Amino acid sequence: MNIPLSSYPRIVIIGGGFGGISLAKKLSKKEVQVVLLDKNNYHTFQPLLYQVSTGGLEPDSIAYPLRKVLIGYDNFYFRLAEVNEVYPDKKKISTNIGELTYDYLVVATGSETNFFGNTEIEKNAMSMKSIPQSLNLRSLILENFEQALLTDDYHERDALMNFVIVGGGPTGVELAGALAEIKKGVLPKDYPDLDTRRAQINILQGGDRLLDGFSDQASKKAEDFLEKLGVQVWKGVRVTGYDGKTVTTKTDLVFESATVVWAAGVKGAGIKGLDAEEVLAGGNRINVNEFNQVVGYPEIFAIGDIAYMVTEDNPRGHPMVAQPAIQQGKLLGENLANLIQYKPMKPFKYFDKGSMATVGRNKAVCDINGYRFQGIFAWFVWMFVHLFFLIGFRNRMVVFINWVYNYIKFDREARLIIRPFKRDYSQFKD
Ligand SMILES: Cc1cc2nc3c(=O)[nH]c(=O)nc-3n(C[C@H](O)[C@H](O)[C@H](O)COP(=O)(O)OP(=O)(O)OC[C@H]3O[C@@H](n4cnc5c(N)ncnc54)[C@H](O)[C@@H]3O)c2cc1C
Repeated sequence: MNIPLSSYPRIVIIGGGFGGISLAKKLSKKEVQVVLLDKNNYHTFQPLLYQVSTGGLEPDSIAYPLRKVLIGYDNFYFRLAEVNEVYPDKKKISTNIGELTYDYLVVATGSETNFFGNTEIEKNAMSMKSIPQSLNLRSLILENFEQALLTDDYHERDALMNFVIVGGGPTGVELAGALAEIKKGVLPKDYPDLDTRRAQINILQGGDRLLDGFSDQASKKAEDFLEKLGVQVWKGVRVTGYDGKTVTTKTDLVFESATVVWAAGVKGAGIKGLDAEEVLAGGNRINVNEFNQVVGYPEIFAIGDIAYMVTEDNPRGHPMVAQPAIQQGKLLGENLANLIQYKPMKPFKYFDKGSMATVGRNKAVCDINGYRFQGIFAWFVWMFVHLFFLIGFRNRMVVFINWVYNYIKFDREARLIIRPFKRDYSQFKD
């Protein structure tokens, strides 16, 4: 990998997400050599992926070059590399570009879509965990409407315009709201020769409420917002299969749909070598102690989505959202410096800043520090918070300008099929 030897201890960070970046920044003035590895050369701001999928934002505006994060820091190295395996007894990792030894290793690999072992759904449904996947979804949505124009079969046309979102968490709710706004504001103008009123947006939730983890008030209001936008909310409906054409559920409900988005769960993006029974917790996350140290491996740490830390306040681990990753990254920066100087480490204490989700223009729900509010004020708070946490001044400017433009013009100009998604439509023919 051409990383020079150093008299400083080498800290290897796998993953330049929220956790990895916070940690790297915190280590910038410490006497350590830092090697950041990521399979992409950019950081992805995942909370806005759904806006890329629905043509509201260009993908570049929610990505940030990882090399730029490290500019000006001494003893920092970035390598574009996918880590394949960790060898804890040799303090070494292997990647697609070679091997590297470490003094300390930090796993910050985040999470991936969890299909709960259903390979049929995995093969046929769309995920929204990365920019390429969001671009695939954007292309598919637009291609479906182009295809709907071409068919004489009204069953096929309905299936092409029928969207099924599985999972009523923030991702599902935000995507459903954005699709409903496209249906109302964009489709009638783009496709005047298509009866786009027949387009349907369905959101399917296994449990009996949307937005698990939010207050009842927020959950009810989000449902209310969605229904007002014309989204069909189905609760207590568990999906059992999707063959690319028909969605089957545990109830009598079936849906014919060319676009099923799976937003029903995530699991830790684990790495070979750190997969022993005692290391792994439920959901493929890695068991860590209060210092984010991987159980049984004092030189290996895990932070963010991949880390499973049981505390009194969070007996089932921390929520898989950005704040635990950011806060753990920052504290681990201090703790690693302490560890190297034989000083005691501080235990992690999560400060829950609250939850928020937007359903569309002027519609959001916020539960912050005991305050619960919904509607236009919540929507402004949602926008401000997302702009604040978005990495890069240029990105903030671009996103802000896009939002103002979309708001004034009721438009989403990034509705482009730049990289077509190859979908086999033949199964809708019979
Ligand atoms: C659609 C969507 C919407 C979301 N909305 C919100 C929201 O509104 N608010 C909120 O707080 N959270 C939200 N989240 C969750 C939030 O994005 C995650 O909790 C957060 O990104 C976790 O940070 P992390 O550092 O653990 O991992 P990530 O940010 O996922 O970063 C992991 C990094 O590791 C890299 N990587 C993974 N495996 C390897 C490997 N083997 N080798 C090299 N590199 C690797 C990846 O490329 C990635 O850059 C959302 C997530 C999604 C998918």
